Amino acid sequence: MMADIDEISRARMAIKHNRAALEASKECGCVYCISIYESNGNFEWIDTDQPTDRWTALCQLCEEPYVIGDAADLPLASDKALLDRLHEPLVRARSADA
Ligand SMILES: [Zn+2]
Repeated sequence: MMADIDEISRARMAIKHNRAALEASKECGCVYCISIYESNGNFEWIDTDQPTDRWTALCQLCEEPYVIGDAADLPLASDKALLDRLHEPLVRARSADA
């Protein structure tokens, strides 16, 4: 199943400047390595020139900035195919921008 445009744009927002959202999340998922794990705060951050709550997390497993917290408006816990579905449009889109 393909991700729809609305889902992709919500995911694109969720992986950026997500420190506040991740700190409000119990679990997080990575669109790059397709993993779900506890959002325990042990992230490394980029975008640290921004205010603290707008820092962007690197995945604890693959160190790519593709982490979505379950506090984001996406069905992370209930939809097991979500990360798979988002991987191609998000990861491929970044390569195209580079
Ligand atoms: Zn990852």
